[in-house]
Amino acid sequence: MNARGTTQGIGMTSARTRDRLIKRLESGGIHAPQILDRIRTLPRHLFVDEALSSRAYEDNALPIGKGQTISQPYVVALMTQALLEEPDGSLRQLSKALEIGTGCGYQTAVLSPFVRQLFSIERIAPLLSDARDRLRAMQVGNVRFRNDDGFGGWPGQAPFDGIIVTAAPDHIPDVLLEQLAPDGRLVVPVGPHGGEQQLLRITRTDDGFRREKLGAVAFVPMLEGKEKGPR
Ligand code: SAH
Repeated sequence: MNARGTTQGIGMTSARTRDRLIKRLESGGIHAPQILDRIRTLPRHLFVDEALSSRAYEDNALPIGKGQTISQPYVVALMTQALLEEPDGSLRQLSKALEIGTGCGYQTAVLSPFVRQLFSIERIAPLLSDARDRLRAMQVGNVRFRNDDGFGGWPGQAPFDGIIVTAAPDHIPDVLLEQLAPDGRLVVPVGPHGGEQQLLRITRTDDGFRREKLGAVAFVPMLEGKEKGPR
């Protein structure tokens, strides 16, 4: 085999390397076969710099520039499952979902087949434009992107059946709760910057909101305002 730089390829992109990652996710409690299949077939090495592509199928976060990271595959799988799974193990097909923190677009791509219309907000413009180009090249066509501060949500498109936040605010943003449809879910890591964060799932119920803790996580902070210019 000598194919390189494609979705197949040798070494780090081999079926065996990917299967090892999937086994890890399964042993960590990711049981939805559709989500495991999506992660198995999605070329994660195309979301990171070429210099890091040999590490793309390790279960780790990796740097993507601008001080940001691509999330750990286990955490992407866990959040996707938390957003979609029903008590009987089936998955919801969402009609509208919102993601905050596009980054390189990996979580966006994992989620896209399970959602009719996906909206994704990123505060750092160059990351967003790279993610947009990358997903277009992968023929992920049901996503609309916006360079903005996700603390405002996306009022023109609300309500959403699901909202997923991939950076950690230090409190649950009320605006995002308000943009949830009935029975809609918000999956968000909450906690102090640099401290321990809890992954929470908040469900809109008939008489308010139900809150579940899904475990400790470590995310980059959710920051206010759009980032202005290079640093
Ligand atoms: N979803 C990505 C992870 C991105 S890291 C993945 O799949 O790997 C978190 C991202 O959230 C960063 O790109 C960061 O710039 C962005 N972010 C932080 N605060 C934000 C805010 N208020 N609004 C929108 N994006 C934000």
